[in-house]
Amino acid sequence: MSGDISGVLAYCEATKKRLMAKVRKDSGTGCWIFTGWLDPGGYGRCSFGGKTQRAHRVSYRLFIGDIPAGLELDHLCRVRECVNPHHLEAVTPSQNRLRSRNGFELSGRCRSGLHDVSQPGAVSSWPNGDRRCRQCRLERDRDRAKTIKQARKALGMTYSEYAAKYGYSMSTAKQAAAGIQVRS
Ligand SMILES: [Zn+2]
Ligand SMILES: [Zn+2]
Repeated sequence: MSGDISGVLAYCEATKKRLMAKVRKDSGTGCWIFTGWLDPGGYGRCSFGGKTQRAHRVSYRLFIGDIPAGLELDHLCRVRECVNPHHLEAVTPSQNRLRSRNGFELSGRCRSGLHDVSQPGAVSSWPNGDRRCRQCRLERDRDRAKTIKQARKALGMTYSEYAAKYGYSMSTAKQAAAGIQVRS
């Protein structure tokens, strides 16, 4: 029995070392920036227990302990590639959603990372409690208008005429704008 436990501990120590070899500590923020492979969501990945896992989850399990069933780890520092276990807190999924909804204002940037949302009026509130970046919406609307204009050219009729005939669909407009043959 004690043999089993020392085996597990040795494995954990070796994994800690492997993890820390891929960490750059930021002395300003205290973040442990993972320098290895990041997944498309921006989270570090490393192997643990024979599986590739999110590095911050591995770090939490190694340094703090098991993640209680049904809970998610929230980055208190809002830095996804950070694996400092003391910057992580196990919370319920709904707490996590609420925090990231409000967190984008704390960080001063919208979720795209492109816009300053610290100015008054930069964020619009939705009836369901969501808060969204106004600039992101303006840019999306502008993109749509541009697509519809291009589609009108490609179709040889106004997009609303086309839409009245065949039904409105943004994906159809995009196809038309890109010069792909659409129903006519
Ligand atoms: Zn951090
Ligand atoms: Zn934005």
